[in-house]
Amino acid sequence: MSIAKVEPLTNARALRGPFDYRLPERLGDVGVGTVLLVPFGSRRMLGVVVDLAEGSALPPERLAEPIEALEAGAPPDLIRLGLWVAREYCSTPARGLELVLPPGTATARGQTRARSESVVEATADTRAALGSHTGLGSRQRAALERLCDAGRELRATELAAEGVGRDVLRRLERRGLVRLGERAVRRRPATARIGAPAHPVRLDAAQRAAVARIVAGLDGQKAPQQRRSSAHASQGGELLLHGVTGSGKTEVYLAAAEAALVRGRGAIVLVPEIGMTPQAVSRFESRFGDRVAVLHSRLGAGERRDEWHRLREGEARICVGPRSAAFAPISGLGLIVCDEEHDTSYKQEGDPRYDAREVARRRAADCGAVAVFGSATPRPESWLRFERLELPRRVDGRALPAVEVIDMRGRDGREGPLAPRTREALVDLRAHSGKGIVLINRRGWSVHLSCRECGRAWRCPDCDVSLVLHRVSGLHCHHCGHREAAPAKCPDCGSVTLSRAGAGSERIERLLAKLMAPLPVFRLDSDSAADPGGHLRILSEFQAAAAGVLVGTQMVAKGHDFPDVVLGVILDADATLRFPDFRAEERTFALVAQLAGRSGRGARGGRVLVQTLAPGAAAIRHAAAHDAAAFLAGELERRRELAYPPFSHLIRIELAGSDLARLEAAAGALRAELDETLPADATALGPAPRFRLRGRERRQLLVKSGERAAAVAAVRAAVEAAAAARELRELSVAVDVDAQ
Ligand code: ADP
Ligand code: ZN
Ligand code: ZN
Repeated sequence: MSIAKVEPLTNARALRGPFDYRLPERLGDVGVGTVLLVPFGSRRMLGVVVDLAEGSALPPERLAEPIEALEAGAPPDLIRLGLWVAREYCSTPARGLELVLPPGTATARGQTRARSESVVEATADTRAALGSHTGLGSRQRAALERLCDAGRELRATELAAEGVGRDVLRRLERRGLVRLGERAVRRRPATARIGAPAHPVRLDAAQRAAVARIVAGLDGQKAPQQRRSSAHASQGGELLLHGVTGSGKTEVYLAAAEAALVRGRGAIVLVPEIGMTPQAVSRFESRFGDRVAVLHSRLGAGERRDEWHRLREGEARICVGPRSAAFAPISGLGLIVCDEEHDTSYKQEGDPRYDAREVARRRAADCGAVAVFGSATPRPESWLRFERLELPRRVDGRALPAVEVIDMRGRDGREGPLAPRTREALVDLRAHSGKGIVLINRRGWSVHLSCRECGRAWRCPDCDVSLVLHRVSGLHCHHCGHREAAPAKCPDCGSVTLSRAGAGSERIERLLAKLMAPLPVFRLDSDSAADPGGHLRILSEFQAAAAGVLVGTQMVAKGHDFPDVVLGVILDADATLRFPDFRAEERTFALVAQLAGRSGRGARGGRVLVQTLAPGAAAIRHAAAHDAAAFLAGELERRRELAYPPFSHLIRIELAGSDLARLEAAAGALRAELDETLPADATALGPAPRFRLRGRERRQLLVKSGERAAAVAAVRAAVEAAAAARELRELSVAVDVDAQ
């Protein structure tokens, strides 16, 4: 008897699969990865086959049969990967599996189907019929002539446009003069082109050396079946491509992908959020054409489904996309690239809180692929762990721009947000009709609104945070979306003198518009780029302008390549340093160095100004010197002393709920349980309060451990036990392994 072990696609943590089902003949070919509709108690549910067996521990009469098997599921190696993610990130099997199943499987069954179109072909008799005078109508004759002229099959819609309708074609078909058929059509997403065009280049020595090392990894592999036993660290190698901005990393990825294809293997290229990196996508598409598929959440359901199937069926062999592309159904994978590997978007924020970089490592290890992590500002983790490939110079030997650090301490706030030197540089830019980028990592008009008379501060009623004033739309909570009208006066004391402190991107935009006129100023932040395509539109406008300024949040520092930018400015560069987070240094370094890298890519060179209250901070000093190695050496030393990652692993457990007593009881119980079960080298901290969010109180536990797997297992067991004991009733719990 054949048994399918089926993991139901439900998120109830208490439900523990997999469950056994008897496989009847009528279901045909069912394997690991097949999606089944199964009876479950009195309900029906979708489930995924995670294993096959010859027998079951249950007596046959207690085994149910699946109702039906759905169309193509995920390949077995991806099923294993999905289950690994579920375990590794303390999620449910269903959530892990949803990552690897065909798009849309778990949400609504079969709402996106393959699309097909009708086609018409000539038959052996077509030409002869045209020659003889066998009573063809004029439309029939026209159709046959078109077919013979074309010498290929035609779409029915093409003929319809010429006045040959369905009825004509059917009559011809009945006479055996044409053949009608259906052909699958793939919906292909359109991509936009932004930035410098992709022309083939001759790689320089450093690029060639990097490619050679990657290719050696591709070639140095054993057969897949030998590899299965060694679970970790890919045979192909884990490489860090450290190249300053504009050093030609993308050209290395392109050459490496080419090498993988030549060897019959596939490639995944992970990029930060897709809206941010249209350039990378279009460079791959213009090099590899239809062999590239893109997968991301902004595609329509049909496009996403079709791109997935193009990969699954091997029509496309390279997938470019953001973190979820780590799960692309590519067989015989040879290469996984993770571009801008320092980017925070690789960590998923919702459950499962997976890190696509870790998924990439795992998958590369599983299939013997080479994993390449690229960045100008690598993470300390990568610096420590991976073999390094260096691209030390910009292509064409252009110098990195000079960076000036401007000390903003002791300045009077009334002088405005621009230092005199910054103002001069902008005025100079206007005089020379140049292009510049200004980064202010806060959106809105001002981030603190308070009453100068009585000190009242405007805060979100549902979250413990300040409301941000926006120029036209009033006060916003950036955490929950709460909005209220901007006040004309203080409701407590009636004063009309309100203080608007902490200039955001809208205010800087206004200021620059005055300063730079008549040059145009473009604002790029998540407000201005909110509508679909908004981000791209703003970048294209900036690109098309002969001169002007792009101002905005960290979005302006990402990925694009505008050769004519000659000035970069960062206002309040240490804002990110003030976050109470052990990654604050790393993030600040990356932000400053990346913005500096946007400037001076062309022949005119460039200049960068960094305004800061912390001119001595290591992150700022080293970023100004473009010295990632020095920054990382110091940062790793600091991490080692404090036992922070990569010298330990952090797991964050967050509980939220509206009943404070219940919340505290559950958090306390979880802590007590962890104290019993965590490995000896692990410590638990908390429960500590986190700021209220959407009216719900929050508590957080933090586990710091040298031994990752044992700590993850203990946390998973503790959370599952608490869920089973109903201690988490009316609370929500989120586990974040490798909390950022
Ligand atoms: P990165 O990804 O490191 O920022 P890119 O690969 O985008 O760098 O390269 C920056 C620019 O330099 C691109 O326009 C690219 O086409 C060009 N480029 C890269 N390598 C070379 C080369 N060897 N010779 C000439 N131009 C190159
Ligand atoms: Zn007041
Ligand atoms: Zn709020």
